[in-house]
Amino acid sequence: MRVRVLKFGGTSVDTPERRQAAVRRVVQARADGCDPVVVVSAIGRAGAPYATDTLLAELEGVDPAATPAPRERDLIMACGEIISTVIMAHTLAAAGYPATALTGGQAGIVTDEVFGDARIRSINPHYVISTLAEGRIPVVAGFQGVTDPGTGRHGAITTLGRGGSDTTASALGAALRAEAVEIYTDVPGVMTADPRLCPGTVTLPRVSYEEIAEMAHQGAKVLHPRAAEIAMEYGIPLWVKGTTATEAGTQIAGTAAELPHRVTGITHTPRVAYLTLHLPYREDRRRLELELFRILARVRVGFHLLGGSPDAIGLAVPRESLATVAGLLDGLVVPAGGGSPHRLYLLRVDRGGTTFGVQEDLLARAEGLAEVVAVPVQVVDTCAVVSVIATRMWETPGMGVAVLETLQDAGIAVLQTADSALSLSCLVHEKDTGHAVQALHRRFIRQEDDGPPAPGE
Ligand code: ADP
Ligand code: MG
Repeated sequence: MRVRVLKFGGTSVDTPERRQAAVRRVVQARADGCDPVVVVSAIGRAGAPYATDTLLAELEGVDPAATPAPRERDLIMACGEIISTVIMAHTLAAAGYPATALTGGQAGIVTDEVFGDARIRSINPHYVISTLAEGRIPVVAGFQGVTDPGTGRHGAITTLGRGGSDTTASALGAALRAEAVEIYTDVPGVMTADPRLCPGTVTLPRVSYEEIAEMAHQGAKVLHPRAAEIAMEYGIPLWVKGTTATEAGTQIAGTAAELPHRVTGITHTPRVAYLTLHLPYREDRRRLELELFRILARVRVGFHLLGGSPDAIGLAVPRESLATVAGLLDGLVVPAGGGSPHRLYLLRVDRGGTTFGVQEDLLARAEGLAEVVAVPVQVVDTCAVVSVIATRMWETPGMGVAVLETLQDAGIAVLQTADSALSLSCLVHEKDTGHAVQALHRRFIRQEDDGPPAPGE
């Protein structure tokens, strides 16, 4: 069996014309001698009748004061993809290609029990395989799985987090030993920056798994980072292509270590809140930092560690997580200091709630047992992170300076910086995001007046 997994995003299945374009891609896979397995997202973007956000808004609108149970939240969020599988399967059937719509659970995708952000634990794709054996095309609902039917949750439907359909496609590709996983979307491939934000972007013909994973982690939502990581782990060839595009798209293969230095692209993460913890004692920094990471991991808040200094820890979190993080940190007592009396850190978040004051009073009663040290946590909630993705970043002297100079020349304030083996990130004011991406793109990728890019550039 030569399996090819084709994943179609929300905008690739939202009109009859685009669905026909998707059908042509599936038919082409067959013509190439492959068995196509289709994965679909919910139809349309935010605002569309069956888009995930619309369904969620319906649930949350029941009573703005009541929070829906995570299990029910996932159940309603999974409906959009299910509707989409039925429409797509029937579209294929009507075109003369018998197809079977499958939920994630029917496709054998078993996850952990973390509703809203579940991880795939195993895949048993026998239903997908038997569907193929009957000469039918399986159309699988992306973004969803089920908890292990053998556990207490009895096969509850879970969702995989934003962009999770890409993960479904990669994971199915791995389970079926697919010869390729193709992610079809509304742009012609992975581009040097988000074309919505930056003029003059070009499609990258080929990138390594690490580069795309880094781009995805640093905000390029064209592909979910987990999808890249799974494909890399199992050595599944991955492509990103435009559903209606004529170009070949982007091939994802190979490792970054094989490549010479190059700037791959510029990415951005919008809607970031930045927290600075001011530390009175440097010697306790590492322990406090470690405790903080543990706490954020426990509530599954992703964060970016930016800048800081010996006297401060800087954390960037998605703005939508700010209320959770601020609620968690304010009044938090962290026993991170050594010495005697034992040193306790008490966090006080800017604009936090009342917990700090209450805790301070309570701890005052424990006088003599511990030294209580207040840690002010400052919050700036209108930030964005702009990143330059490049191979051999650390072996290329001068990159950091060039990035900072470029932003300075463009009149953009950089609040913090951070780097990794494949990226250099700058925290900026959200209003400067577009300008920053454009300035960096002009400096490191191409001048807009370079003329049309040469084919295969
Ligand atoms: P889908 O619904 O098909 O999964 P997404 O909206 O998740 O589509 O991803 C495609 C979008 O990703 C594009 O419309 C584009 O605006 C955005 N994007 C961000 N960064 C990049 C990039 N570097 N290359 C291509 N697209 C990008
Ligand atoms: Mg997507």
